[in-house]
Amino acid sequence: MNGNGQGRGNRAGGQGRGMGTGQGLGGTCVCPKCGYSEQHQRGVPCFEVRCPKCNMQLIRGK
Ligand SMILES: [Zn+2]
Repeated sequence: MNGNGQGRGNRAGGQGRGMGTGQGLGGTCVCPKCGYSEQHQRGVPCFEVRCPKCNMQLIRGK
């Protein structure tokens, strides 16, 4: 038997991609703690933005 059913674990979990075009513009960055959200700025990853209320790193919203 060839265990050929689980060979798809190829998730590229890097953060070095996406500085080019093709990423969705107009997203939001959300504070996971208090729910504060602001518009995602181009070229500035959400995790580099901090919540003005609780100083948490923001995460990418939907
Ligand atoms: Zn916050």
